[in-house]
Amino acid sequence: MHPTTVFGRLAATLLLLISAPQAGCIDTTIPDLSGELGTGPTAGRYCSPDDITEFRPKSLRLDIIDVGQGDAILVRTPYDEIEELESVHVLIDTGSAGTIAGHSPGGQVVVDYLNDHGHELGRPLDALIITHAHEDHYGGMPTVIANFPVSRYVDPGFVPNTNGFGGVRSSVTSAVSAGGGAIESPATSALGAAPVLVDLFGPMVTAHLLWASEEPPSGNTSNPAGTDINNTSVVISLSYGGRRVLLMGDAEAEVEALLVQKANAGELALVADVLKVGHHGSDTASSEEFIDAVFKEGFVDVNTYAAISSGVRNFSGTQLPTAETVERLNERLDQFHLLSTEHLDRGKKSSGEEHGDDHIVITIDEDGTVTACYGS
Ligand SMILES: [Zn+2]
Ligand SMILES: [Zn+2]
Repeated sequence: MHPTTVFGRLAATLLLLISAPQAGCIDTTIPDLSGELGTGPTAGRYCSPDDITEFRPKSLRLDIIDVGQGDAILVRTPYDEIEELESVHVLIDTGSAGTIAGHSPGGQVVVDYLNDHGHELGRPLDALIITHAHEDHYGGMPTVIANFPVSRYVDPGFVPNTNGFGGVRSSVTSAVSAGGGAIESPATSALGAAPVLVDLFGPMVTAHLLWASEEPPSGNTSNPAGTDINNTSVVISLSYGGRRVLLMGDAEAEVEALLVQKANAGELALVADVLKVGHHGSDTASSEEFIDAVFKEGFVDVNTYAAISSGVRNFSGTQLPTAETVERLNERLDQFHLLSTEHLDRGKKSSGEEHGDDHIVITIDEDGTVTACYGS
């Protein structure tokens, strides 16, 4: 058990003892948060209208858009009107096209979400990052590109010949180039021991590329398995307000082990305050040693959160996120600090119909305060 949790429980017990209610009185000293924040392993606070509409100056905001099965994250960097600093808007992944059975129309969900939440139609995206060549990440690209010009397009550079990524990618990169945008693929050709500082997120946020592979680390390029493709994922860390955000794409345990190795050698920092959990909460990612390195004992507090992007699709009998991964994360985090776009969808919705109701809004203020809530 984590010391923070032990301390929290001890403090709650002491508070209970001190404020034990008199017979006949209703004890209102300790609020029952489960009533307010919901139940279940991914219960969390629901956003107020202000949480959604107000993008505060000098804050870093991540909107993990509920695209059903897949990923799509809008990152908006801090702006400051006095300093005349504008926010940089980066979209990481686009959800699915929705043409595959069991996948939601993620591209359209993304377009509508952006237009309704402060990034109006036609406004350029400063960058579009496609973490890797899986449809639930790149499928929505054509719809996104048709509605927003893109200034910089980034992907790891691996194009498998076994799925439709190559065709979609070449038409999208042609459109981006025709609009004057830059193509940055592979994400880097010189990703050695040290992480690479990237300028994709403007001057207010320190961004490092921790991983991206032009070839599957397994070496299997001719007939790559899903794991091979996932392990090419662009992995990025963002630092602001003394907090670190780790965006894992679909990187699995093999990449996690390499990152832990580099962290142990002092070559990069993995301790994070916000983790976008790898591979939709699958048990092929979020290994014990990795989660221990990210949510290091003694560093987890009220500002520490994890977020999962997942649908309700069944993969050969496995439903994501897996119960083991959810439990592993909850063991390290304070209660109500693990949020998932699949929240309460299971058993109530079918694949392809679960998008749009559990967006996750995470804000990091200049003073390091982190808040996370569910929005619809
Ligand atoms: Zn995926
Ligand atoms: Zn994937």
